[in-house]
Amino acid sequence: MLDADFFRRWMTDAAASVAREADRLTALDSPIGDADHGSNMNRGFAAVSAALAQEAPDTPGGVLLLAAKQLISKVGGASGPLYGTLLRRTGKALGDAPEVSEEEFAGALRTGVEAVMTLGGAAPGDKTMIDALVPAVDALGDSFAAARTAAERGAEATTPLQARKGRASYLGERSIGHQDPGATSAALLIAALAEAHDE
Ligand code: ADP
Ligand code: MG
Repeated sequence: MLDADFFRRWMTDAAASVAREADRLTALDSPIGDADHGSNMNRGFAAVSAALAQEAPDTPGGVLLLAAKQLISKVGGASGPLYGTLLRRTGKALGDAPEVSEEEFAGALRTGVEAVMTLGGAAPGDKTMIDALVPAVDALGDSFAAARTAAERGAEATTPLQARKGRASYLGERSIGHQDPGATSAALLIAALAEAHDE
């Protein structure tokens, strides 16, 4: 069973990983964006860590709703509302249970990813965070480690794609040949999930 402590570890591991990789995320956002993805994500996840240190919600849903609130209010750019929606809808789907099963979590995360697709209008293959998140939820039924690998492969597979959503889509064919920053940060988020599961 996954408890509030597991979800706090997920969020703080994600914050540490985003802080470590911020420069790389910004570098990826340079050729096909506006070079702010690392700083956007780092600002948001630093706020998530700080909020979770201040108040410690005692349910999985509570942890994710608090994290979502920080991301929505602190991250400028497209990724803030999208990641905020991911965590808010996942958290809402978990309700106020003190513990959830891995199957319940996998179902809730799928609801969250679907909400991101509805909000942003992106489908798999559009060269966005969805290209890492959809394979990850598909693999989560097998294991957390499989989800991590699937997300990393999904992020790498965005390189040859032409962007059809977000800022990178303005570049048309010139967006081809670069890995998508948001798919890369989504893979970090899923890697942190697998890490929290191993701890
Ligand atoms: P901005 O593009 O506003 O500068 P960020 O740089 O923080 O915001 O985030 C860019 C990332 O957001 C992209 O790499 C992409 O993965 C993701 N993204 C942008 N638009 C969408 C969308 N409509 N649906 C899903 N993801 C999107
Ligand atoms: Mg950007």
